[in-house]
This record gives sequence, C-alpha cells and structure tokens, in this order.
Amino acid sequence: MRVLGFESSCDETGVALVDVQPQGTPTLIAQALHSQIDMHQAYGGVVPELASRDHIRRVLPLTRQVLAEAGMALSEIDVIAYTRGPGLAGALLVGAGVAVSMAAALGKPTLGVHHLEGHLLSPFLSADPPEFPFIALLVSGGHTQLMRVDQVGSYEMLGETIDDAAGEAFDKSAKLMGLPYPGGPHLSRLAQDGDERAFDLPRPMLRSGKPDFSFAGLKTAVLTQIKKLGDSPEPQQLADLAASTQASIVEVLVHKSLLALKESGLKRLVVAGGVGANAKLREQLNKACAKRGIRVHYPELHLCTDNGAMIAMAAAMRLQSGQAQLEQGGAFDVKPRWDLSLS
Ligand code: ATP
Ligand code: MG
Ligand code: FE
Repeated sequence: MRVLGFESSCDETGVALVDVQPQGTPTLIAQALHSQIDMHQAYGGVVPELASRDHIRRVLPLTRQVLAEAGMALSEIDVIAYTRGPGLAGALLVGAGVAVSMAAALGKPTLGVHHLEGHLLSPFLSADPPEFPFIALLVSGGHTQLMRVDQVGSYEMLGETIDDAAGEAFDKSAKLMGLPYPGGPHLSRLAQDGDERAFDLPRPMLRSGKPDFSFAGLKTAVLTQIKKLGDSPEPQQLADLAASTQASIVEVLVHKSLLALKESGLKRLVVAGGVGANAKLREQLNKACAKRGIRVHYPELHLCTDNGAMIAMAAAMRLQSGQAQLEQGGAFDVKPRWDLSLS
C-alpha cells in the first residue's frame, strides 16, 4: 500500500511517499520539501498569510517532484494523508484542501494526521528505528512534552511546558542576541565558541520533581544580561551568552527526560522535533543515558524539523496498526489546536 503525505502546518511545505506492508517498518520511497524560512526571515517570524499563499504555490510542483522521483503515477497511490493540526489554520487548510480534492478526484480515501504524532514517529524513518514502549521527548518550536508511548496511538502525557516551548526559548533568546529567524540553529552555532559557565542563568523548574517545564523566565534572564552588555557587546560575550543559554535549556531537558524514564522504569528514549537536531542536547542525552543503560533514538537530522515524510509515516503506521479512520467524500476540517493524547 502506498501513502502520499502532505505537511503544511507552518512554514514548510512537505510531500512524501511511503510504502507500507502488513508487517515491518514502512519505508520512505521519495520526499520533497520547501522551507519558507528565507521568506519569513525579513519579518523575524512566520507571517501566517504569506505562509498559506506560499504553500499553495509549492504543493503541486513538490508533488510532481515526488512522483517523478518515485517513478509513479498518482493513480498508484492508495491513501492520501495530510496534517490536520495543530498549526496555522490557513496553512493547514492548503494541505488538507489539496489532499482531499486530489483523493476525491482519484476515488481514494484520506487520513488526517496529528502533526506531533508525525514528529513523534519520525525516528522510525531512521536506519535504527526504536521499539515500543518508550518515553518520548518532543521538543519543537511550539511544544515541549514528555510522553509515554506504548504503541502507535497510545500517547500518555507525562508533563509539558506551562509557557514557552524549548524551540521558542532558543528562538526568542536568539532574537535578543540579534540572530536571524529561526534562531535555534544560529544560537547553537554561536554557542560553539562560547563558555557556558560565563553567565549564571536560571534552570526553570529543574527541581519541581515533575516532568514539566517553563522557559519564559529564561528568556527574561537573557534579556536582563543583554541589557547589561549595552549597545555594542563583544562577539565573545554574545558567544558566551549563547552557550550559557543553550546549557540551561539542555540541562533542563536532560534532567526531566531522566526523571520521566526513572519514574516509568523504561529504558528507551525517543527524541523528536526541531530542537532534537541540537548537537549539545544529543551529546548530553547520549552521555547521561549511556551511564544508565538507556537507549536513545533520534530522527535523522534533516527530519527533525517539519517534513512530509513524518506525516506519510505516521499515516502508514496508523494504517498498519488498524487505527486509521479513513475518510472519503470530500468534506474535511482542520484542527489548529489539538491535543495529541486526545487524538
Ligand atoms: P510544532 O511542531 O510544535 O508545531 P514547529 O513545527 O515550528 O512547531 P519544528 O519544525 O519541529 O517546530 O522545530 C522548529 C524549532 O526547532 C525552531 O524553534 C528551531 O529554532 C528549533 N531548532 C532547529 N534546529 C535547532 C538546533 N540545532 N538547535 C536548537 N534549536 C533548533
Ligand atoms: Mg518550521
Ligand atoms: Fe513541527
């Protein structure tokens, strides 16, 4: 069975084709991605209306590219999946509209996928896929959650951020340091030349004893330090601040992941979402988990941020496990706000 998947929840248009058999991990046949980062950079963040319009421009050429790479015709697709939510309403409507109308024309069913389920299952696209059950650390631009995952479709929320997400903490701190949007990767690069002990930044909720997070206070602490540095800070001071900020976020993420692992007794951690690409986070998690006999799985680096492959993959795994509520008939809705544990 072949699943075509569309991702358009924010500022990446992704299309991918996945093959799913009754048994074994589904495999990626082809994928194409267009990031709108360059377009939004001038505004310092995502402009929703521009995002929707650009998805419209990109989605069909990307689909043709995927089919050409796969050497397949649209008629050879069995199910069309799309991101139903959460995300920007207008952006979601583009992917959903294209998926549902294409499926109606072909007489094929559609499947609306939860964007976070896509992130969560993206490590199954790697050469070394995890096994169930596991603890998942989902760290993206809009979410920071720890979950217990027993199987496809069984997502128990253990804790989440009460304010900003980890990706947001990276992006907002980076913005204060004058770095381009999205700041996470830029801050991480700047941090390579910095001393992470140079600034004493808070580790919010580190000792709360629960797997929950708060990052809004960190951003305020970074702002305070920036103000102290004055109008023209030395490059080294900024590198030190970047390293200290990253160290604070990473320490909290590692500590809370270990807490969730310990409380569950599970020995497997799956990291997903854009911040999962962060080298410092990977290094610290690998070190802490190796010491405790815990295996850590990550998505491939290029699949940490939004892409179509993870949406097609989540749909494929839902189909394979008999949990896909396929739809037919041309009607659809999107869910800009949607809790994964209720999906
Ligand atoms: P959500 O999935 O919650 O709706 P999103 O789709 O915008 O949000 P992702 O695409 O998963 O989020 O990830 C984007 C985030 O990941 C941004 O905040 C970005 O700065 C961050 N990010 C990407 N690479 C890195 C990195 N190397 N270090 C730190 N942060 C990073
Ligand atoms: Mg993005
Ligand atoms: Fe995302």
